[in-house]
Amino acid sequence: MTGTPLLAEAPAPTRLWTPSRVLVTRSAAERPHGQRVLARLEAVGVSDVELLRGDRLPSLRGDGDRAAFMRAKDTLALVVPPPSKRRLQPIPPSADFRLDLAEGCPAHCQYCYLAGSLSGPPVTRVFADLDEVLDGLDGYVGRGGVTSGTATRGDEGTTFEASCYTDPLALEHLTGGLARMVEHFGRHDWPGPVQLRATTKFDDVAALLGLPHGGRTRLRFSVNAASVARRFEGATSPVPGRLAALGAVAAAGYPVGLTIAPIMPVEGWRADYGALLDAVAAALPAGTDLTVECITHRFTPGSKETLLDWYPRTKLDMEESRRTTKRGRYGSVKHVYPRATTAELRGWFEDALADRLPSARLLYWT
Ligand code: SF4
Repeated sequence: MTGTPLLAEAPAPTRLWTPSRVLVTRSAAERPHGQRVLARLEAVGVSDVELLRGDRLPSLRGDGDRAAFMRAKDTLALVVPPPSKRRLQPIPPSADFRLDLAEGCPAHCQYCYLAGSLSGPPVTRVFADLDEVLDGLDGYVGRGGVTSGTATRGDEGTTFEASCYTDPLALEHLTGGLARMVEHFGRHDWPGPVQLRATTKFDDVAALLGLPHGGRTRLRFSVNAASVARRFEGATSPVPGRLAALGAVAAAGYPVGLTIAPIMPVEGWRADYGALLDAVAAALPAGTDLTVECITHRFTPGSKETLLDWYPRTKLDMEESRRTTKRGRYGSVKHVYPRATTAELRGWFEDALADRLPSARLLYWT
């Protein structure tokens, strides 16, 4: 859809993060987006905001204990990343390019994929150079290799993924960054077809519903079986809230999606995932443009070590002897479910999706 979106009703957000400490570098405070974020922080009553004299963040490592971890998780840093970070990288299988508006997330998922990809204390860094980044995107259009020009996903155009290293909606009430991106994608005169992609475990969509998105943003909701979400997804919005938000953005004309991740063959998984898909079907208006991405649970030696450090009492199954090892191109190791388990899960999901969400398009299974 490309016309003015209908005004769908916004469900009340179930969880809004308030950082207990904010650090702002000098360059970030000078940028227009940095100033907008500062104004929002003031408006929502965040009082511990420290304006730094330079661009270096103080050490946030603490003593490496639990209290230091929690302090870092509760800290937002407003920064300008180094220029090298701003060359956009491909991000298969999701999108042609990674488009980061932040790094880090305030939630506490015990399987969090950031544990294997970000190093250092888990502070949420919000990037203040958003306007410059958006201004530089034209040069990437038509140059991707993940969706652009492919037989299966070429119709998506050049795709930009905003959720690689953060959950954009977890921060939206504090930054407005995702809304700015959505508007830019919707209004800008692009040299070719483009799509912004974001996925979230939050539900604060009110500010997105009336935006001129032009059908160029696909909002996906990361969902899971109730038992997995309840046990492992701390400080996120509960799944029913995410589904209400999914229904609201679909009613506002956004193309939408499900990121079903991480899929786990927990006890009673067929019934649990079946109930999830039924709830999705009930939440969506007729004619919704819906995609599905399925990601089975995996971990690396490094992510396991970090996650056990962060969540020492976790009941998450990370026993290597129950997994198969998958080796990456450069010798990296991933522990995935054995082939027979993966085949059983995949077969069930393909049938269940065809049955319960027949118009959905499965983008990939991994
Ligand atoms: S919501 Fe996503 S990024 Fe945030 S803790 Fe959970 S898995 Fe990690």
